[in-house]
Amino acid sequence: MSRADPDPGARALRGALGGFFGSVLAVGGGFTAIALGGTAISRAAVERQRRRRNTKCDSCAGERFVRCATCLGKRAIDWQPIERPSVDRMCLCPTCQGSGLQKCLNCLGQGVV
Ligand SMILES: [Zn+2]
Ligand SMILES: [Zn+2]
Repeated sequence: MSRADPDPGARALRGALGGFFGSVLAVGGGFTAIALGGTAISRAAVERQRRRRNTKCDSCAGERFVRCATCLGKRAIDWQPIERPSVDRMCLCPTCQGSGLQKCLNCLGQGVV
């Protein structure tokens, strides 16, 4: 047995293994494609259904944003790090970053449910 002339048995085994792994890859790829396609299709269906119903979100009345619960829309909070400050300080609301609005959690900022 020489390198130029490999063992026919080993070659057959390698071929079988190659075929096996090849089919596993093909099947796996197929499953992945089906799973991805299915997810996209169901997501599109949900989106279409949502648009058709177009039920306005109760929480934000379709505005997609609600008043910030932390600062109540004031965009800043009364928060004093020291007990008796010499000057009144307002801190930017950490929840809404000063926008006074929060994304509606009921519709996740979609405006419709
Ligand atoms: Zn806020
Ligand atoms: Zn909403």
